[in-house]
Amino acid sequence: MTSTLTPMPLSSVHPTADSPWGTYLMQVDRVVPYLGHLARWVETLKRPKRALIVDVPIELDDGRVAHFEGFRVQHNLSRGPGKGGVRFHPDVTLEEVMALAAWMSVKNAAVNLPYGGAKGGIRVDPALLSRKELERMTRRYTSEIGIIIGPHSDIPAPDVNTNPQIMAWMMDTYSMNTGTTATGVVTGKPIHLGGSLGRVKATGRGVFVTGREAARRIDLELAGARVAVQGFGNVGSAAAELFNQAGSRIVAAQDHTGTIHNDRGFDMADLMAHVKEHGGVGGFKGAEPMKSEEFWDVACDILIPAALEGQITAERARRTKARLVLEGANGPTVPTADDILAERGILVVPDVICNAGGVTVSYFEWVQDFSSFFWTEDEINVRLDKIMIGALRRIWDTADRHRITLRTATFAVACERILTAREERGLYP
Ligand code: NAD
Repeated sequence: MTSTLTPMPLSSVHPTADSPWGTYLMQVDRVVPYLGHLARWVETLKRPKRALIVDVPIELDDGRVAHFEGFRVQHNLSRGPGKGGVRFHPDVTLEEVMALAAWMSVKNAAVNLPYGGAKGGIRVDPALLSRKELERMTRRYTSEIGIIIGPHSDIPAPDVNTNPQIMAWMMDTYSMNTGTTATGVVTGKPIHLGGSLGRVKATGRGVFVTGREAARRIDLELAGARVAVQGFGNVGSAAAELFNQAGSRIVAAQDHTGTIHNDRGFDMADLMAHVKEHGGVGGFKGAEPMKSEEFWDVACDILIPAALEGQITAERARRTKARLVLEGANGPTVPTADDILAERGILVVPDVICNAGGVTVSYFEWVQDFSSFFWTEDEINVRLDKIMIGALRRIWDTADRHRITLRTATFAVACERILTAREERGLYP
């Protein structure tokens, strides 16, 4: 009988060592020795509080009906309402959304925002939809997950292939269903709908700010440093622009349209204009095209994965020339690769602190919406930089004290906060 009382693995997912949920579980296991008496609550972190799967049917422009699978997962709500983005991508699965929601719990606690962790997604290639179809899908999805989201319960935001326009449709749909104008139900909205200045570039800015601090600690001069960026969307391009402004050379970039290289560094204004016109870096005239796998061999000082999970495999970790890895993406490094990077003395600023700039300004946006009082972009950036640097320094102290990686140290700081809240609240009933 006792065996049935010990926690059993979740039956709904089948993680492997390198899958997102498998990676997350391994990261949690690694932090247990540093949790002291709170370790008795650790199982809380290994299962989502709530996972909703919804059918999203829409009428296509040609009259056919299409169905999409949608998800919203609330991983942990001990410290506050759920917070986390919504992703539209053909590879979205329940397991991926569970991992992304869990990383949000850790990230929000690591920067001490009063939030739990959540994430959502639809399994769809949005490039195949017209604007009207995209709007119908977004609205139906919002309506379906409307039973668990809300300004005080769970607040979505943009992620891969979602943007301020999609947030505006989500806000409007939720508002129509509740008979209110609920600006605080999502963040990352357009500015005149209660959005915050600085939000669009906030994640990239956080990558830069934490990267600058990390570079200082390993005596890496940003002026002249060579930077390789994978994923040239919201996060990757904003980070690249800031490194470029600090005097670094962006020597390689990769996205779904191609891989480009120029050891002298790209002209960023030209590259940004090219991406705006063509939807990606592929075909940029100011660089040489490269085979996609060669991206990982490029001579660079800083590597910024800013696309999807699982990109830095053990094999790529052995090949990279970078001294510093800044995880703009969520979950880009698998655990075996993490160990190889550590052995090779390559410093990794992990996702759960490195890309926390976006959710930090989302928090500012939510606070501004409730108070209906909006801050200047300078105020936003000053507060953002202060929170990011303060959080990173605290994590660094923990890493130095226990002689552990920044990732395990971030988990240690964050999990202590989450599990303390769990313990103080006690178990209901
Ligand atoms: P985005 O949709 O703006 O950009 C995604 C980029 O990844 C695009 O350039 C796309 O071409 C590229 N990409 C997609 N598949 C690829 C592949 N197989 N190989 C190479 N490149 C590929 O998304 P984003 O908001 O910039 O998000 C990127 C990452 O950052 C994601 O992991 C996301 O979860 C994470 N993140 C985003 C935010 C945010 O505020 N948007 C915050 C924290 C973390």
